[in-house]
Parts: sequence; C-alpha cells; structure tokens
Amino acid sequence: MKPIIVANWKMQFTSEKTLETTKKLLELFKEEKIDPQKIEIIICPSFAALPQAAQLLKNKGIKLGAQDCFWEEKGAFTGEASPSDLKEMGADYVILGHSERRENLAETDEMIHKKIKAALLAKLIPILCVGETFDERQKGVKDYKIINQVTKALEGTEIKPGEQIIVAYEPVWVIGSGQAVAPEEAHYTAKVIEQRIIDLIGFSLTKEASSFIYGGSVDEKNIKDFVTGEISGALVGSASLDPDQFVKLIKSIL
Ligand code: PEP
Repeated sequence: MKPIIVANWKMQFTSEKTLETTKKLLELFKEEKIDPQKIEIIICPSFAALPQAAQLLKNKGIKLGAQDCFWEEKGAFTGEASPSDLKEMGADYVILGHSERRENLAETDEMIHKKIKAALLAKLIPILCVGETFDERQKGVKDYKIINQVTKALEGTEIKPGEQIIVAYEPVWVIGSGQAVAPEEAHYTAKVIEQRIIDLIGFSLTKEASSFIYGGSVDEKNIKDFVTGEISGALVGSASLDPDQFVKLIKSIL
C-alpha cells in the first residue's frame, strides 16, 4: 500500500495564499521528482479555496480533500456544504470528526456517524479523526475513549466493495504542540482501532477497505518512526504549511 500523507491547512490561508502554496508545492514535487504513483498526497484547503485548488491539482496526481461536510445532500441548512457538492468541486477525501470541530463546534459522535455515511454515499473517502484529551489520558480512559469514538462513528455503516475509510489517531493534547506521542504508543493505538473495526465490519473488509494514519506534531524528523507497519501514513497540520518543510517530510518516507 502507498503511504498516505494528508495536509490539513485548516483556516490558516486565504484563497490567494492557498493557490500560491499549492503552486509552490507542485514546483517542488517536480524538482524533487516526487512520484504520485508512490505516495498518496492529499491537500485539504478551506472550503473557499477548493475549486481553485482543484484546477491547479487537476491531472497532477495529487488529491484534494475537504475539512468537513454536512450529513444531508440538500435543504435548509444555512452555511453547510453537501458531500456531493464537494465531490463535484474536485474533492476525493473529507476529514471528519477533527478534534477542533468536536471542541469548537460541539460535533458529536452521532453527527460524525451521519457525515461518514453521507460522505461514502457521495463517493468521498472519509478520514475519521479520533483521539483522547490530556484529561482523559490522565484518567486512564484513553483506549475506552477511542474505541467508543470508532464504534459510534462506524457502527451500522455499510462499507460497500470499492469504498475506503481512513482512520487517523490524533491525540488531542499533542496536536500543534510540537511534541508527538511516542511512536510505540501510536502503533499500539492503531492496533486497538483495527481490532475494533474488525469487530464491526469483519477481518477481510477491514484489511481491504481501511487504513490507519497518525496525526499530532508530525514533522520531517519523526515521520519515519510513525509511518511503518500498521500505520500507513500521517495527518499533518503545522508541518504542511511550509512547502519546503512539507516536501522534506514527504521525502523522508520515500
Ligand atoms: C491536526 O490538526 O490534525 C494536526 C495533526 O496538526 P499538527 O500536525 O500541527 O499537530
């Protein structure tokens, strides 16, 4: 399986800056001979920049992702974006359940579950984020929390042949901190998540349709320790904002 690297640009860039950064990345990928056949690179800009970013990325082998979607396709839902609209704009992936949305917008596991179903229906690949807060960790409920998030997001979701789902373990307390968790911890947690998914959808579908990535202060120095074995890739925030740094990060796992 190809390594998967997801760049989450959050709300860090204006549309103009998104285009400038995307152009720079494409130049660097060419210069450094990064072959998109060997790695799945997914750029997730803000909603507003998606159509223009899609134009730039067309036929370049680099994929586009949205940072969220709504669970309905149409209707009186002011401010929301439908999964098929995102697909039409050029997105193939969608990040769902990011801790910043769970925290700032009170997104619940039930809402995330509905979004996953809607995303799959629109042929978007969901990137489901799960992870414990520092407080939950201190209380010793980390695994319980993650198993619960995975269960509530995926229970009753039918994964049809050809559909994919990516689950990102993102310990909330290390996101943006500059200090990742120990790689052994991330590998152990990927196993815990995989076991839960096997229980929910069965062994062969899990192996066929799901992948696990790690997110939380990944950079060019530590990525190699994470992206190996059961962890197929990384969700990268801060270290994806600077094109030179992001390209170094990608090169260090090729
Ligand atoms: C994130 O927000 O998903 C993330 C992984 O951010 P960072 O790489 O900055 O920790």
